[in-house]
Amino acid sequence: MEKERVVIIGSGPAGLTAALYTARAQLNPVVIAGMQIGGQIALTSEVENYPGFFNPERTPTGPELVEVMQQQAEHFGTRIEYDEVVEVDFTRGSPFYIKTYGKEYAAEAVIVTAGASPWKLGVPGEEEFIGRGVSYCGTCDGFFFRGKDVVVVGGGDSALEESIFLTKFATHVRVIHRRDELRAGITLQERAFKNEKISFIWDTIVDEIAGNGVVQAVRTTNVKTGEEGRLETDGVFIFIGHFPNSKFLEGQVALDEQNYVITDEMMRTSVSGVFAAGEIQDPIWRQIATSVGQGCAAAISAERWLSERE
Ligand code: NAP
Repeated sequence: MEKERVVIIGSGPAGLTAALYTARAQLNPVVIAGMQIGGQIALTSEVENYPGFFNPERTPTGPELVEVMQQQAEHFGTRIEYDEVVEVDFTRGSPFYIKTYGKEYAAEAVIVTAGASPWKLGVPGEEEFIGRGVSYCGTCDGFFFRGKDVVVVGGGDSALEESIFLTKFATHVRVIHRRDELRAGITLQERAFKNEKISFIWDTIVDEIAGNGVVQAVRTTNVKTGEEGRLETDGVFIFIGHFPNSKFLEGQVALDEQNYVITDEMMRTSVSGVFAAGEIQDPIWRQIATSVGQGCAAAISAERWLSERE
């Protein structure tokens, strides 16, 4: 059993920031990174909206940002373990038990930053064209669709909010929804219906994303008539919901009805000594900048909690 002062579960912007802060506080943090470091930004082709990380000659990438964050955290004493958590026991208080595939830890404090994952459609072509026309983030990628035609899949608040955002760049946004009624709130619906660049394709599912190197079209089926179609498009934005990666926390800390970890303004969970930051506790903002801020706050809270115990 490895005895640690702080174990951080997850290695996205929240986790690496929590690592930097707890490392600089001399707490020798261990980051259980998963099999790949960086979380969702490791999959982001270009990062243009993270302050201080800018190159006018060439837009930097998500993996480049992860590399800098990792170097900075390691420079101050963070250890990174490429491993996954399989089980935790927080019910007996500190030290908290964490089991990974390779090791067992007893951690005085824990910061959970395991993130969230966008639901995928699971249709042919989706994986192949991620970063080449398929996107799960309008704020990140909308700019690259200036003057182009895109489709949005989904009928919730995210789909409409992002569709409205995408009209800043795209000439036309077609929202493909599987029913004839939107799930989104009425205000967003009204804004979307009024927007001349947005049109709706009802009762329709996407069966395939097609292209040649980049996205060129989607194949669709009308679920009421069975009619099949093909829509030419430059991009496919999929907003069918996110899920927090909190399965391993069930029965350990309080989760809300969507399985997000419940935290207070100090980033404390329902268990004293266990903190959470980033998308695992944030269904709203989901930005690199907000995750970094939450990771920083969780680290400072954890450090104070440990000092008060001493
Ligand atoms: P959501 O509310 O769960 O909506 C997901 C949408 O995707 C639904 O319209 C659903 O269709 C559709 N969908 C799900 N699986 C699908 C599939 N396999 N194929 C095709 N369509 C599928 O998710 P969200 O829009 O990301 O919102 C998540 C939460 O964040 C919600 O509570 C939302 O209110 C909140 N949110 C709020 C705001 C805001 O207030 N401004 C902005 C964004 C998100 P059905 O309708 O048929 O189920």
